[in-house]
Amino acid sequence: MEKKFRKIGVLTSGGDAPGMNAAVRAIARAALARGVEVMGIYGGYSGLIHDNMIELKARTVSNIVSRGGTILYSDRCEEFKTEEGMQTAIGVCKKHEIDGIVAIGGDGTFRGATDLSVRGIPTIGVPGTIDNDITATENSIGFDTAMNTVVQMCDRLRDTCESHARCNVVEVMGRGAGDIAINTALALGAVAAVIPEVPFDEAACMEKIRRLRADGKRSFLVIVSEGVEHFSEAFAKRVQAETGVETKFARLAHVVRGGDPTLGDRILAAKMGVYAVERLLAGESNLVICQQDNRIVAVDILYSQILDRKYKGTLKEGMLEKCTAEQIAQMDCAIEEKKKDFARLYAMVNDLAR
Ligand code: ADP
Repeated sequence: MEKKFRKIGVLTSGGDAPGMNAAVRAIARAALARGVEVMGIYGGYSGLIHDNMIELKARTVSNIVSRGGTILYSDRCEEFKTEEGMQTAIGVCKKHEIDGIVAIGGDGTFRGATDLSVRGIPTIGVPGTIDNDITATENSIGFDTAMNTVVQMCDRLRDTCESHARCNVVEVMGRGAGDIAINTALALGAVAAVIPEVPFDEAACMEKIRRLRADGKRSFLVIVSEGVEHFSEAFAKRVQAETGVETKFARLAHVVRGGDPTLGDRILAAKMGVYAVERLLAGESNLVICQQDNRIVAVDILYSQILDRKYKGTLKEGMLEKCTAEQIAQMDCAIEEKKKDFARLYAMVNDLAR
């Protein structure tokens, strides 16, 4: 017989992202509307281990939909990765009679969600990460806000570059993924983007800057993803040396993580949060909520993780054996589409810089 849920927990874990609060609100309100109590667990999985949580009432989550950061705080909890830590966490769930959990975070958070699910605490993941590096979903909560912040900051840099006839090389977050960099480069009219997904032709970039300057262009932006390691600062010096254009360097770093969520992230958080509660209360577990073809769907976490590893080329021995031939074909298709998207956007940035 299907288990009746009386109480669920919600937590935010790993790197924070704007829109996490909107997701917490949606999850809490959706559960409360269905007669289910909600515990807000503080500091990600460490709140489960150290029994640090509060009951969320409808009013507790009032007026947080528009706020950046996370009212539940976030943390990285190494102890949770040990069997002892895991057992402590499960004991705390039992003590509070928590029947299931919604965990908002990135891929590390979803690994923790699987560990809980297989030990009898049904858990569903909601992607909250500015990096957009969960391959199974087209969009993660925080990505849109982070891109908007990059665009706002770089528009300001562009103003001063234009006044002083300069170039600015800007490094943006994204961990190993170039999603933020390539999309913002396009939105900013950058002369080039440097991302991990597509090889960068530095000589062609220098030549283009020299040619455009000779043609009278005053300002240049180059957007570099932090995923291209140990590159951006030295590259800025090379641009100045090789093109004669005065070049400044800026690393936006954590400023991109903060700020109020955009309309897009608030809507995504609401849709994903409500869907997570619906699936959890329907008795499902070990799923990550995704956006595919603009629809909200649920994907098995194991599938999502294997897809990520296949995309990044980090598959471990025997992993693919857990998937059906149909799933593998589906993964190959998704990976090919993602690679094509990057190639298209990269070509577009270069074509439009004239
Ligand atoms: P993100 O969720 O943003 O990818 P992390 O990789 O730092 O961030 O993971 C967040 C938290 O998830 C970790 O601090 C840890 O508590 C938990 N976690 C990560 N990996 C595992 C794992 N292999 N097993 C269990 N829990 C994990």
